[in-house]
Amino acid sequence: MPVIVQKFGGTSVADLDRIRNVARKVKREVDRGNQVAVVVSAMSGVTDQLVNMTRQLSGLSTPSALEEYDTIVSSGEQVTAGLLALALNEMGIPARSWLGWQLPLVSDAAHGKARIHDIKSDAIMESLNEGNVAVVAGFQGVDEHGRISTLGRGGSDTSAVALAAALKAQRCDIYTDVDGIYTCDPRIVTKAHKLHRVAYEEILEMASQGAKVLQTRSVEMAMNHGVRVQVLSSFSDAEGTLLVDEEEVVERKRITGIAYSRDEARITLTSVANIPGVSAEIFGPLADANINVDMIVQNVSEGGAETDVTFTVPRGDLKNALAVVEKSRDKIKYKSLNSDDSVAKVSVIGVGMRSHVGIAQEMFKTLADKGINILVISTSEIKISVLIAEEYTELALRALHTAYGLDTE
Ligand code: ASP
Ligand code: MG
Repeated sequence: MPVIVQKFGGTSVADLDRIRNVARKVKREVDRGNQVAVVVSAMSGVTDQLVNMTRQLSGLSTPSALEEYDTIVSSGEQVTAGLLALALNEMGIPARSWLGWQLPLVSDAAHGKARIHDIKSDAIMESLNEGNVAVVAGFQGVDEHGRISTLGRGGSDTSAVALAAALKAQRCDIYTDVDGIYTCDPRIVTKAHKLHRVAYEEILEMASQGAKVLQTRSVEMAMNHGVRVQVLSSFSDAEGTLLVDEEEVVERKRITGIAYSRDEARITLTSVANIPGVSAEIFGPLADANINVDMIVQNVSEGGAETDVTFTVPRGDLKNALAVVEKSRDKIKYKSLNSDDSVAKVSVIGVGMRSHVGIAQEMFKTLADKGINILVISTSEIKISVLIAEEYTELALRALHTAYGLDTE
């Protein structure tokens, strides 16, 4: 019998009515003759509440505090797994709940952001073969010391994909509150449309660009294990978006989608000595302070003795980043330090970039025609990102969506 993994996020299990609705979606797959393993998140808002409570009690700076953190914040999934199993039983579908340690889903001991080592599938497979639906608490595992671990916020997606790989599932359906992946945020670009297929690589670029539909790690795992993931809504019966290998993306558009992030801040250091080792003096301490630097540009002045260095960091890290840079002023010897937190990053993404030319040029021209100044540019093989003033975000997204022929008629 084919195995299907279904994953339901926090909004899909937010109350008992919604849990009954989820049970009906599970029943439908059972009625189609599938063996079904379901992975659930905590009810929406619950994990936040639990995190809050732990933070009020502790700075979470010791290993044992982090172990308790995981014991506490993983509990929301225990509740929803039990409730869904109960709802299924009430509908006449045999089901049982599974906690991470009961499978077990074995993880490393990096509490709060653990990685999955292995899923032992014998026990759950046996239960499926006996005709039961398995309802698995997402987000949690057990480390080698027998302590509960969690997989990072949004980690139930990764639980689901890992389980689908372990059970050699035919498909991993991720039910969420959006009905798929769109060419652009439909709240901003009304002409955005749903994509039927997206390459794993594209989703990875979109996710890290701020289109937060799936936990990034779950997509990497799906790509590495060839898991067919479908993103769809638990509130409608519409077809979702399928994540596939690049070769399976039939329609080779120039651009697949456009993403944006407002969680950006720019920092510029002027007149830095243009000598070996200076970049390390700037970015080493930032890395040590756990600040994630994204875009970087360096412009060497005429004569080449000095250079300006501009880079971006998450907006919430700006103050911290400035403090870190100021601390090394004696070593870096910059003339001035300035920053701007009213910037946004807009990115065009698509595997079609590998076979089409002129994509960057088109982006720059489209923005220029709208009078939008580009502050920083960065690229990868399938992505071009620009940093612009935040106030032009919507205008840029709409103009690019039209320019690349993505508008629906
Ligand atoms: N409940 C966890 C969170 O809110 C895990 C998940 O929902 O994926 O991050
Ligand atoms: Mg999620």
